[in-house]
Amino acid sequence: MSDTSKPERFRTLLILGAPGSGKGTQGKVLGSIPRFHHLACGDVFRSLDTRTTLGQKFVQYSSRGELVPDDVTVELWRENIQHRVDSHMFKPEIDFLVLDGIPRNVEQAKLMEKDIEVLKVFHLSCPDRTELARRLRKRALKDNRFDDANEAVIQQRFATYEAETKPILDYYAGDRVVPIDASQAPAKVLYDILAGVMTLEAWKELEKMKI
Ligand code: AMP
Repeated sequence: MSDTSKPERFRTLLILGAPGSGKGTQGKVLGSIPRFHHLACGDVFRSLDTRTTLGQKFVQYSSRGELVPDDVTVELWRENIQHRVDSHMFKPEIDFLVLDGIPRNVEQAKLMEKDIEVLKVFHLSCPDRTELARRLRKRALKDNRFDDANEAVIQQRFATYEAETKPILDYYAGDRVVPIDASQAPAKVLYDILAGVMTLEAWKELEKMKI
């Protein structure tokens, strides 16, 4: 970020982890800090009118704990992010894009190669699935998340994560991937994420800029 010209690809930080690992919580907090713009793919889907074809598709797949097909997902994401750029909510020349919930598999990661430059992948890791399931059940009651209320759907969401999302870690292999213990207190998880961000050249350049 040596100047304020538009980068060819969005400078991106990915938050990756199993359902219940705290991606949304961390994404929201980061997104409330100037120069970080947060986008959660699940929120984009949930904001769809369920009377539309795409809205119905979302309900159909998410209620089974499965992923919505890649082409429609990436297309929806592109439209959404373009709208944010056009309305100056997200300023790619000075903001980091914080993505949670997308890309969700290697195919999506490939489709998005031309849109995003992935600087770091924060892997919120919590092998204790019982703890994650507890968090999901709590969230289901608080946030009215139908896909988190049913035990079979929760287990399917974990299985989908293992089979489809986790391989993304190999796709982005190398020192871009930062493992973070997601069982820690949320403030400590945030601390670890920020420590990773601050090692980035792009961060150091941004720090020098007077915006
Ligand atoms: P989340 O709020 O991220 O847990 O997403 C809730 C549901 O939305 C998922 O179980 C999927 O059905 C759907 N979804 C969210 N993001 C994606 C994505 N990138 N690709 C496919 N489906 C997605």
